[in-house]
Amino acid sequence: MVKRFNRPFTQQEAISETAIARVTEILHTGRLHRYNTVSGETCEASLLEEEFARWQGVKYCLAIASGGQALQIALRAAGLKPGDKVLANAYTLAPVPGAIFAVGGQPVLVEIDDNWHTDIDDLRSKAEQSNAKYFLLSHMRGHIADMDTIVAVCKEFDICLIEDCAHTMGAKWKGTRSGNFGDIACFSTQTYKHLNSGEGGFLTTNNPEYAARAVIGSGSYMLYGSHGAIPPEEVFQKVRLEIPNCSARMDNLRAAILREQLPDLKENARRWNVRYRILETGFAAAPGLTMVERKQHEEFVGSSIQFKAPGIGREKIPDFLTRCAERGVEIKWFGGEEPVAFTSRYDSWHYLGEMDPLPNTIRVLSTTCDMRVPLTFSEQDCRDIVEIVSDEAAIFKTSVATNG
Ligand SMILES: *Cc1c(COP(=O)(O)O)cnc(C)c1O
Repeated sequence: MVKRFNRPFTQQEAISETAIARVTEILHTGRLHRYNTVSGETCEASLLEEEFARWQGVKYCLAIASGGQALQIALRAAGLKPGDKVLANAYTLAPVPGAIFAVGGQPVLVEIDDNWHTDIDDLRSKAEQSNAKYFLLSHMRGHIADMDTIVAVCKEFDICLIEDCAHTMGAKWKGTRSGNFGDIACFSTQTYKHLNSGEGGFLTTNNPEYAARAVIGSGSYMLYGSHGAIPPEEVFQKVRLEIPNCSARMDNLRAAILREQLPDLKENARRWNVRYRILETGFAAAPGLTMVERKQHEEFVGSSIQFKAPGIGREKIPDFLTRCAERGVEIKWFGGEEPVAFTSRYDSWHYLGEMDPLPNTIRVLSTTCDMRVPLTFSEQDCRDIVEIVSDEAAIFKTSVATNG
């Protein structure tokens, strides 16, 4: 009997009973909007901001409607004007170019290297050529580049560094939390990320003016004073008329769900990594597949796993993945010419106009495969996945070998 896997790759864990109870309580009050409070009450969204700021180790935190909105508002808060150039690593998810486009920025895409990190040499040369003053860095799929060097390049060229931590909430690099290297960090709490409120996100910073502009930009009207982790009033007085209201507020229901989840994030990161290590070891031993070794100083959160399939080859990868899918194992490919589901390559973002070719990025992505690792999978599930993927890889590896 051929082994089949029959659990969904998109199934996250249930929302806890305590979170459900708290949400129900709020529903009974009818006060779902963050500025709808009774005298003496601090809303859930503000409490969440205090808690996330403390957890992240930053001064200021804004809870927001989505990670994508966090990116847009971060760019505006940092002072971006229409027509300004924005450096961005080309391997990322569609909300990143979408955010740059939405604020009128001109993306300058940077190559990635064989480890899926921003290519530092290309970053340096594009920083020099373009004179861009912003770098929107996605720690894509949790792979954190050499942050010492990236921060140094940003200093050298006077570039404002905005970190997209959608895949690195809870991760660290040389002991520093991802998000605390740049000037502003953005997080997502959309269902498939490390906290799950359906939609949602955070913006964090230690810069008081960026923080105040972000709060105003999120749609605080002049009610910003009730926020949980904000700079003093005089900073708001200075900036409050400088940024448009983008209506991207977090509501109290989502905030309540997130407040219940935050204390479990550290333990969940550990659980993700137990699963990741089983898959990593298994895939590394599979014929035709290679893993990128994670660097010692990268404390990542293995909520997804990437591998390359050079031994199967670009032409056969779609067939290999179809066969895996027929046995219930869902793997995405970043090498396709057409965008599929959540996965797209930079050359399918046509609204950006003509982009300079990025041959290294195309080459690396042409054999890059990507799999979600939801916490609803058991360790045995991960071993079953390894078995199926290894079986199928062996078939293709053999046929490649016999076809020369
Ligand atoms: C999910 C994601 C975002 C945006 O988050 P949303 O909350 O879905 O808007 C941004 N960047 C990356 C890399 C992501 O994966």
